[in-house]
Amino acid sequence: MTLQTDFPLTTLNTLQLPALAAHYLYVDDCALLPKLPPHQRRFILGGGSNLVLLGDFDGLVLHVGFKGKRLAFEDADAWYVEAAGGENWHDFVLWALAQGWPGLENLVLIPGTVGAAPVQNIGAYGLEAGERIHQVRAIDLETGSEKIFSPTDCRFGYRQSLWKQEGWHLSGRSLITAVTFRLPKQWQANCRYADLAAELEKRGISQPTPQQIADAIITLRQRKLPDPAILPNAGSFFENPIVDALTAEKLAAAHPGLPCYRQADGKVKLAAGWLIEQVGWKGRQLGKMGIYEKQALILVNYGNGKSQDICALVTAVQSDVRRQFGVDLRPEPVFIGSVTN
Ligand code: NAP
Repeated sequence: MTLQTDFPLTTLNTLQLPALAAHYLYVDDCALLPKLPPHQRRFILGGGSNLVLLGDFDGLVLHVGFKGKRLAFEDADAWYVEAAGGENWHDFVLWALAQGWPGLENLVLIPGTVGAAPVQNIGAYGLEAGERIHQVRAIDLETGSEKIFSPTDCRFGYRQSLWKQEGWHLSGRSLITAVTFRLPKQWQANCRYADLAAELEKRGISQPTPQQIADAIITLRQRKLPDPAILPNAGSFFENPIVDALTAEKLAAAHPGLPCYRQADGKVKLAAGWLIEQVGWKGRQLGKMGIYEKQALILVNYGNGKSQDICALVTAVQSDVRRQFGVDLRPEPVFIGSVTN
């Protein structure tokens, strides 16, 4: 671990926005974390796939590099599989499947690291990471002490967690070193998303194995989502808005075809991508940034885009959706740094 100064972050964020970190440390040894200088502005960087760099960052970027994955233990009902925070998420899911420990296959090909999964409570195709998390291990960088969080401690919600609710994803207070997943031995296929069911049917599969589900989702995602290495992007850029049942009813009456998904608490999730498409932004560009032609949730950098371009595009999309539907769209990624001209 060597502290570096004025470190370029361009290749460390999947939107490829240019920015410098005043200080940068690649962290692959937990033992040194408690010895970090206190009171410094910090940001904890994983895969950089859910990040908008508005400009240079004047603090310390801690780039999580811990590696390792293992079966921690098993009981009659489940395997408990632990992975270090710096492991690549997709590789970890494939590795667990290959060991014969299914349960994460619906989350295949999500970019980013294992340590970022609980922060965002990543989700796709009807599964959220929080449903499989047994415990999260983290170091509190204010006190230097290690903490172990149970699923209840983690306060998981829709793309929500303790880390986001406490603002630790911005303040860099809590660095996740490892996550243990509980993967039930009584595996059940989760194919309730229409696109997934259709893809499996197309393949003539009625009783899919975990690997077949993973393969189908990889195909779906590759068909719809741009590869950040070819077209820089930060995955889903807007959260699906959750509204109360009455608002959803009124909106559905006024806008036939509006996709509405009722939540356990009675509220209703709307599809942000559908709203963006309806206001005409799918496939449109503003400056060097634009909304991807095959997926209206993805904001892409068509080359040398700057933070100002992103801010202008986000504001334009949000105001058009607000004007037509009265719904506020919230960006999903974390914004750090200050805008530079
Ligand atoms: P889609 O199937 O066109 O559906 C649009 C939206 O409706 C999705 O965002 C999804 O919400 C919701 N939805 C669809 N079927 C649902 C069901 N049966 N029950 C509850 N909600 C349902 O979505 P898509 O854009 O092609 O994305 C497919 C999956 O990949 C989604 O789960 C999405 O979250 C995920 N995805 C992830 C990323 C990423 O970067 N992490 C990027 C794009 C898409 P949810 O988003 O809550 O699932």
